[in-house]
Amino acid sequence: MNEKSLLWENLLSFLRNAASLSEEATFLQMAISLATELTESETASILEYDSEWNALRFRSAPWFHQDMLSEVRVPVEGSAAGWAFTHRQPLVIQDTSQETRFFKGVDRLTGLSTRSLVAVPIVVNNEVLGVLEVLNRLQGEYTDEDVIALEILAGVIGLRLSNMRLRQQMLLARADAKEMERLKNEFIAITSHELRTPLGLILGHATFLRELLEDPQHRSQLDVIIRSAARLKEIVENLSNLEHYQSGASRLRKRPLLVARLIEEVTAAFQAAMEQKDLHLKVEVKEPNLSVECDPEKIGIALRNLVQNAVTFTEPGGHILIRAEAVPGHVKISVIDDGIGIPAKDLPHIFERFYQVESHLTRRHGGLGLGLSIAKAMIEMHGGQIWVESVEGKGSNFTFLLPVFSVVQSA
Ligand code: ADP
Repeated sequence: MNEKSLLWENLLSFLRNAASLSEEATFLQMAISLATELTESETASILEYDSEWNALRFRSAPWFHQDMLSEVRVPVEGSAAGWAFTHRQPLVIQDTSQETRFFKGVDRLTGLSTRSLVAVPIVVNNEVLGVLEVLNRLQGEYTDEDVIALEILAGVIGLRLSNMRLRQQMLLARADAKEMERLKNEFIAITSHELRTPLGLILGHATFLRELLEDPQHRSQLDVIIRSAARLKEIVENLSNLEHYQSGASRLRKRPLLVARLIEEVTAAFQAAMEQKDLHLKVEVKEPNLSVECDPEKIGIALRNLVQNAVTFTEPGGHILIRAEAVPGHVKISVIDDGIGIPAKDLPHIFERFYQVESHLTRRHGGLGLGLSIAKAMIEMHGGQIWVESVEGKGSNFTFLLPVFSVVQSA
């Protein structure tokens, strides 16, 4: 194998391994030493366009020049690299003394005396990212073959530079998203905390006043205030449950829970609402003494949110079935309704925070889109799972599984 084909062989092996060279700086250094060898030049460099300065900056140069060149800006007008950059085509200068397009500033810095050069643009997706440049052919003049070799190299360098950019943009976007998430959580934490006290006072005083007033008309007006304040309190509690879970402040306080009793307590709270809508409730607990080791308050919140939704999203006269049973390793609880159901396109998102099927502007039902995400959080804190099966217009079946660390099945 002659010397030239060995160099082409080197280029090929560089192209094959380009993707696996994880260190950016190593990749660029290898690229410029290969460019130097392939074209029998004295040195090479990679310049990247800096839009802030409208100039080209040295992205990579031989290590002994790297520090010196890191702050240098090569002008786009009046430089060979700039010409290749703006014209999007290679520029070959066999004799710089005859050339006005050549920028002498760099020579003054490096002490190099540039006699000849080739500059090829680095283009990716029709965008010129920079220039690959080689200087001073050691013997003879630069050939067409040199230019082709450099263009191939510039193509690979371009892909790598654009990958680096995308990665940087992705990291920035990720950091932005994280900051937004932090601000949102902080906002939720502060708002829910600050709303709680005045809301408690409104509820307390309104309830007290209601006891004092004789006039039924005034009483019914106070009922409206109390009901609305109670609803507001529920929303604030949901927000603060969510915040507690996210900040990790929420800890499990486990004890054995009789499943039938939990269902009874939760459904009792909805009795009036169900009667008002003429909803038919059925509870099926296969083993009456079925119990599970869990944090009853948190599982209560989860079940309450599911029942609340079943009540809200079932048309008057509809049916709600709550079923609990032991399955291997788990207690399984389902809340099934024959209400409006959920469109298939919304199903994958239903447990996301603040997700609602109907737009908040047009929706007929209240709520913040938090109930299900809180239920999911509470169940998952226990190592359980929750999912939904639903057909639009037919109804929904929300089911969760709680792992049975100790199922207490008393006789
Ligand atoms: P919200 O508190 O706003 O109801 P959720 O997180 O509890 O929020 O529920 C998110 C959305 O999922 C609701 O806005 C509703 O569109 C839909 N959804 C939840 N449960 C049911 C159900 N049983 N039947 C129909 N749609 C439901």
